[in-house]
Amino acid sequence: MFSKQLKFLREKNLLREIENRNSPQGAHIKIDGKEYINFSSNDYLGLANHPALLRASQRAIKKFGFGSGASRLLCGGSILHEELEKKIAGFKGTESALVFNSGYAANTGIIPAIAEEGDAIFSDELNHASIIDGCRLSRAKTYIYKHKNTGHLENLIRKTKSKRKIVVTDSVFSMDGDIAPLKELHELCFTLNSMPSAPCSLLLYIDDAHATGVLGKGRGSLEHFGIKPKPWIIQMGTFSKALGSFGAFVAGSKDTIEFILNTTRSFIFSTALPPCIIAASIAALELIEKKPALIKKLWSNRDKTAKGLTKLGYDIMGSETPIIPVKTGSIENTLKTSRYLLKKGIFAPAIRPPTVKEPRIRITVTAAHTDEDIEKLIKELS
Ligand SMILES: *Cc1c(COP(=O)(O)O)cnc(C)c1O
Repeated sequence: MFSKQLKFLREKNLLREIENRNSPQGAHIKIDGKEYINFSSNDYLGLANHPALLRASQRAIKKFGFGSGASRLLCGGSILHEELEKKIAGFKGTESALVFNSGYAANTGIIPAIAEEGDAIFSDELNHASIIDGCRLSRAKTYIYKHKNTGHLENLIRKTKSKRKIVVTDSVFSMDGDIAPLKELHELCFTLNSMPSAPCSLLLYIDDAHATGVLGKGRGSLEHFGIKPKPWIIQMGTFSKALGSFGAFVAGSKDTIEFILNTTRSFIFSTALPPCIIAASIAALELIEKKPALIKKLWSNRDKTAKGLTKLGYDIMGSETPIIPVKTGSIENTLKTSRYLLKKGIFAPAIRPPTVKEPRIRITVTAAHTDEDIEKLIKELS
């Protein structure tokens, strides 16, 4: 049925294939019986296989069983769901929070719920696919602003007449590893919201998927920039990356969260996450509060790797976080580099169009990597 399209993708070197692990997620993984140093996961703190998460999850299975059996608005939620939501609100300093089944479900559900017909969404051109899809599903008009360009954004906002405006941005961009200029974005939204003609008509929606557990002592991008939560800021984040678990959350004012709960289709019409997953997320949050050394280790590993790659002359494309893209030129050369590393026992994926415009090897460093792991990566790329 689709053989023509598949042939086209194969010829353009754009065909994707899945590699299945035969080991837990971590800094070292096994695929097809072979061991690799893994520079491709988002398991930034090495929590995906941490004993504290496993124990919490097993305890929850004993107490609550496995499946959740219904959506939250029926009887799918457990007291653990409520506990996690309280914890997240505390962690973020917001009045309220709500758990979602995934980051993808959160963005594709919440954005269409808060942006109605006649509203305007302003979205950074490098935002995650789930944000792009959320904008597409919304009846609001979407304006794309140049990457991190607050001047361009301000122009677009001032030119647009709609009643409610929503600025949407990743805080850490998932393929480039750079950080959104949240101080300037906050300032802009604050100023425009303070104008008497437009009381509180501007919302700032921040996707903290790669910032949760990584920036601001793990609390995310607002804490990193020293910005206090506001009623017009909505933060979402995930438990699936640095927290080593699964699922997502949205945090904000009591009214915002109640509105999202009542209007977001991906929340209303989807079965709740099983309690054993929620229990692991709670354990992960407790762990990063108790052990700040984990995040310190992540950053020292990140700096070591970035320094090593830059010293070799590589362009790391403005990376400021544990996501370190390495510019490798053509699609062919990018695939060649990735295959070479694979042969040397290093798993670092080639990222190609349409995921990104410029092909690259995307390296993610974690707290679980050893000095030897990082030295081997640098040596094989030299
Ligand atoms: C991974 C990611 C998501 C999706 O989260 P999942 O829990 O994996 O569905 C959303 N936004 C950004 C920026 C991401 O990197």
